[in-house]
Amino acid sequence: MKRRRLLISYAHPDDESFGLGAAVPKWIDDGVDVYLICATNGDVGTVPEDLQGRYATVADLRLSELACARQYLKFKDVFMLGYRDSGMPGSETSRHPDSLCYLWQHQPERVTEDVLKVMRQVKPQVVVTFNRYGGYGHPDHIAIQRATVRAFDCLQAESAPNGYKPQKLYYAGFPKLTLRLQILMARLKGQNPRHMGRNEDINIVKILDHIEPVHARIPIADYFDVWEQASRCHASQGGGRITRTSRLLRRLLYSKQGFTRVYPRPARDRVDEDDLFADVLL
Ligand SMILES: [Zn+2]
Repeated sequence: MKRRRLLISYAHPDDESFGLGAAVPKWIDDGVDVYLICATNGDVGTVPEDLQGRYATVADLRLSELACARQYLKFKDVFMLGYRDSGMPGSETSRHPDSLCYLWQHQPERVTEDVLKVMRQVKPQVVVTFNRYGGYGHPDHIAIQRATVRAFDCLQAESAPNGYKPQKLYYAGFPKLTLRLQILMARLKGQNPRHMGRNEDINIVKILDHIEPVHARIPIADYFDVWEQASRCHASQGGGRITRTSRLLRRLLYSKQGFTRVYPRPARDRVDEDDLFADVLL
């Protein structure tokens, strides 16, 4: 029997757990083989003092956290592309010649080729990546999104007989209602929703401005336990945050995960799928 295969193309160790930590086990329960591209080693993530010193480098720590998350998110395989984490826009690290964002700007074909290699090996029918704003504007998220779309388009354009072609491309997004509530809550607490997060570099207003239409909503409420376990593994990146949100609130806000269908592009912007493999030919 032909297997259903889904490839997630993301940038850092933690993107998979925070962003899709409930969707991955749902897909696996549905019999899908889920693969992950993690383009960087998370070299420049901020690490709390109590976790510093246990590993030689931040990348070692971040990769050990990804290994922990893999116990819960049972990827068929994980492809590390080995780029250097770029940090936030304008930072010194984003100009490092090995950083994903620098390489995307100067050698986009190299990054695209790395994604293409994985796609040709795995042959996923469905590919998931960030939206065009890279979720919250992180340059590495934007770089891997661009490279993934370019690789997908390249395979679509190939006309080799019996050649492999991926069938569907989706962006994973944030729920609009949740973002609106976060902005409201931030204002009520006297915080600036344009400067949130530990590094004050998350602009929720801009995230909301860049949100894309949702065409698929998949039910994930049965997988909150796995989502919490996988997220907790990324302790250096505040992995306990999700567990602090009450279950009731999560059930209200996150019981379904939305995706934007980029290919094939829907004729109208409305939710018409609850399964990313709808209409996929095996
Ligand atoms: Zn990330």
